[in-house]
Amino acid sequence: MSVVFCSWGDALEGGGVEGLTLARKLAAESAAELSWLVIGGVAAAAEETAARYGVAVLDVISDAKLAAYGNDAVVAALSQYCAQRAPQTLIFNQNTAARTVVPLLAGRLGVPVVMNAFAVAKSGDGMDVTATAFGGDTHVVYHMAAAVNIIAVVTTSLRAEEVAQPVPARKNSISVDLAAVAERFRVVASPKAEGPRLEDAEIVVAGGRGLGSAQNLDLVKQLADQLGGMWAASRPLVDDGWVDSSRQVGLTGKITRPGLYVAAGISGASQHMAGCSAAKTIVAINKDADAAIFRYARYGIVGDCLQVLPELIKAAAA
Ligand SMILES: Cc1cc2nc3c(=O)[nH]c(=O)nc-3n(C[C@H](O)[C@H](O)[C@H](O)COP(=O)(O)OP(=O)(O)OC[C@H]3O[C@@H](n4cnc5c(N)ncnc54)[C@H](O)[C@@H]3O)c2cc1C
Repeated sequence: MSVVFCSWGDALEGGGVEGLTLARKLAAESAAELSWLVIGGVAAAAEETAARYGVAVLDVISDAKLAAYGNDAVVAALSQYCAQRAPQTLIFNQNTAARTVVPLLAGRLGVPVVMNAFAVAKSGDGMDVTATAFGGDTHVVYHMAAAVNIIAVVTTSLRAEEVAQPVPARKNSISVDLAAVAERFRVVASPKAEGPRLEDAEIVVAGGRGLGSAQNLDLVKQLADQLGGMWAASRPLVDDGWVDSSRQVGLTGKITRPGLYVAAGISGASQHMAGCSAAKTIVAINKDADAAIFRYARYGIVGDCLQVLPELIKAAAA
């Protein structure tokens, strides 16, 4: 069995090293080598990362047609790689781009794919892949035993683990012919991406429906400012038009991994937690002592966030 972790882009996105860690563990259970296929600019930093995360073989694809990482070019590069290398298990970090590319690749190769996976273990003639289903409300275990399988991993609940003794990976340059690729996807509008990104923030203060009004969101913004962090929101605030979708945390929003995540008036629905449960410390403010958010929080304040937030702002300013 061969296990290949695949990534592309100008840099390794959040969740990449967590995905590599999961792939390494599966390779070890399967007595297989871990390969890492890097496409494009991400290759520049990959050698050092590969050594730290126990990658045995670093396969690199560079081609001018991949400059914009168009879906069709990436899928063509991946499928040509599979034709040359015949890997058995391909693992992807399920970022926004992978949500489109991975199903396209599975269709192109005619092989099974599991999206939304978060755990993989060797089992009998194949492996068991655990994934979320129904928007995160339940889990399902798939047994994958086909000759070639694809898995897209949601990395929020995973931890990155470096190997004790880094060893440089063997590097291969893989040639692909993308001359005939014509992009069928055209980006007609992109979300505004000015300034720092929520995904990279070390401190996030998020507000939910418990704030009661768009005006009260100012308290969340003020606390985020005082703490030197960024502010965010749960989905109902986006749906109600209080905030732009670029501020939404969760399954259908941004996946954050801050050191500190303050959740004010947020219930802790699984779809929201999918975007913040990897935070090192969660502080929850909720007037309902039984709210689900307290299951995830290291520090919980049972109270009215309209009273608690001003106190926290004062304390942060002191
Ligand atoms: C497919 C799918 C995808 C989804 N994706 C996302 C996503 O990406 N992000 C997301 O956030 N949601 C997402 N949702 C919605 C999610 O299921 C929840 O409905 C949502 O997260 C709830 O937001 P909330 O906690 O702000 O509101 P509510 O569930 O209404 O909770 C409000 C909380 O505030 C508390 N509260 C009320 N007043 C106060 C007060 N004065 N002080 C303190 N606490 C108070 C209440 O006790 C309650 O716990 C998704 C749902 C589906 C089906």
